[in-house]
Amino acid sequence: MTDNELKRMANRLRLDVVETVHAAGDGHPGPCMSVADLVSVLYFEEMRLNPKEPGWRERDRFILSKGHACPILYAALARRGFFGLEELPKLRSLEGMLQGHPDMHKTPGIDSVSGSLGNGVAIGLGMALGLRQQDIDSYVYVAVGDGEMNEGVIWEAAMAAAWHKAGNLIVFGDCNNEQSGGRCTEMTSLYPVYEKWEAFHWHVQRIDGHNISEIRGAIDVARKVKDRPSFIEMKTVKGKNIPYMEDNNAWHKRTPTGEEVETARKALEGLL
Ligand SMILES: [Mg+2]
Repeated sequence: MTDNELKRMANRLRLDVVETVHAAGDGHPGPCMSVADLVSVLYFEEMRLNPKEPGWRERDRFILSKGHACPILYAALARRGFFGLEELPKLRSLEGMLQGHPDMHKTPGIDSVSGSLGNGVAIGLGMALGLRQQDIDSYVYVAVGDGEMNEGVIWEAAMAAAWHKAGNLIVFGDCNNEQSGGRCTEMTSLYPVYEKWEAFHWHVQRIDGHNISEIRGAIDVARKVKDRPSFIEMKTVKGKNIPYMEDNNAWHKRTPTGEEVETARKALEGLL
């Protein structure tokens, strides 16, 4: 896909999320919007995947460590052909396969359970080392929230990954300066995060997380770094492109009304 097509796909996925959470009557729409461009780039261009064979050994892996944002991942998996779009409105229901947090035993295309915050980097490191041991040249991508970086296990994994020179592990920081309780920088802030990952001996880049060509460029650079894991700090906006959700933490977990779904549709109409 071209960068423009990937941008439009990201907005298509954003609208899917609004509709899905509305149908489910529960979910976290705000945190989905900040990683929508990343998810579009990974699933529609950069990752090596086979929707017909979700467990393919040679595939690239993706762990959405901030697992509560899974509606955006489910939208991407559905549109990429891992399962039908008709599954989306069944989010969080007994009839559906889409759990409130990702579960690889229930949903084709999910590589790891997540949502118990902080675990994605450590799980990703295990996968990366396992792949290396088997001479499989796949990459493991992990997305973590900036609030999530308060979890100590992330830094244990960061130390171990550098020690093991896990060049096939690429972590994206979704840096929207919001977490469920408020602004990260007004709480137990981990900022500046760039310098911290660098101090842990990771290869570090900082980009605009809503700029498709910057995301693709950073992935390209990170893949070429073989002797260190990579961290990509993405500056993002929680609720991006849904005007009433943008940088409004009330939308961390909230269900849009029918009227709000229509407002979102109108806002995204020209961007699809
Ligand atoms: Mg955040």
